[in-house]
Amino acid sequence: MKAVHVVGARPNFVKAAPVIRALTGRAQQTLVHTGQHHDAAMSKVFFDDLDLPRPDLDLGVGYASASTQTGRILLRLGPVLARERPDACVVYGDVTSTLAGALAAAQHGVPVAHVEAGLRSHDRTMPEERNRILTDHLADWRFTPSRDASDNLVKEGLEPARTHLVGNVMMDTLARLLPRTDSGAALCRLGLAADARYVLVTLHRPATVDQPAVLHGVLEVLEDVARRLPVIFPVHPRTRARLEAGGAIPTGMLLTEPLGYLDFLSLEKRADVVVTDSGGVQEETTWLGVPCLTFRDATERPITVTEGTNTVVGRDPDRLRAAIAAALRGSPRPHRRPDLWDGRAADRIAGVLLRGWSRPRPPTAILKT
Ligand code: UDP
Repeated sequence: MKAVHVVGARPNFVKAAPVIRALTGRAQQTLVHTGQHHDAAMSKVFFDDLDLPRPDLDLGVGYASASTQTGRILLRLGPVLARERPDACVVYGDVTSTLAGALAAAQHGVPVAHVEAGLRSHDRTMPEERNRILTDHLADWRFTPSRDASDNLVKEGLEPARTHLVGNVMMDTLARLLPRTDSGAALCRLGLAADARYVLVTLHRPATVDQPAVLHGVLEVLEDVARRLPVIFPVHPRTRARLEAGGAIPTGMLLTEPLGYLDFLSLEKRADVVVTDSGGVQEETTWLGVPCLTFRDATERPITVTEGTNTVVGRDPDRLRAAIAAALRGSPRPHRRPDLWDGRAADRIAGVLLRGWSRPRPPTAILKT
């Protein structure tokens, strides 16, 4: 039984690590890194922090447009899949590498497993939404993190027998590594006291950072907050590029390079409030019980709002300003950890895949051009 895992971007590493661990010793595994994120702060540190094996293969697609990256992944991954003939190509989340990996596998007759299937923001202008939908429709196994995600797949007419509600693999990683975090040390490295109050920020989505007016609006609010309370803002490479292009590097906040997983989690678990447009951070704050304000119009992870600590504030700076003030004043609202976010999602995925592999599979035709 052979699995090829395709990863390429920061959130992929966090999701793939527990699945690879759960299959270790039970399947032959090849780890392919597309190179979508390739610098040390967005890639290597995750391999170290998450105890991920080194990739067997690096496709080296580099920073480029999504179309160029997709083309390069198809060209470079296709021959690998044709040679390896794995029983499954496992793809994660909603990034360019997810869809390109699934498409390359489907074109070579390799069954696709999609981890984190079924999430929908219902906003097709988001590249991530298009990636999710297309990947789910290519997949042979769809592993969902929550009931709402499974329901979305039913609504799209996808065969329920191929959808498996397994829980959230990101929480497997979080639960395993939380004991290794050290908030005091992470704060000290930033020049803050171990008991400091602070706001933690991550922003990187095209809808936030590619429109100068939107980016400027949120930064103005955060600069104001930073006059009263430390605002820690690890800056994603996309965001840094936009800030440098606009010539306006914000002042007053603690701007850092993107942080490694353990450093970021150390800060996340102790933050007074997190402001984000990230998907994974909405889920992690729900698990940690930390108030989260999502600077977006919609979330594909509604369970973080209905059961967790997340509030979707929209992209209006005034609403964000009011929401930060309320979060810093108020007592946390009741919340719970969603079902199956119990640190064992990857074991369930491994169980389903191994059961699937033990059944004879009809031969699949390899597409020749
Ligand atoms: N993260 C990190 N360092 C940072 C910011 C985020 O390690 O400086 C982690 C975060 O804890 C989560 C993941 O990166 O596990 C989320 O990735 P990202 O926000 O890039 O992608 P998304 O979840 O929006 O797809």
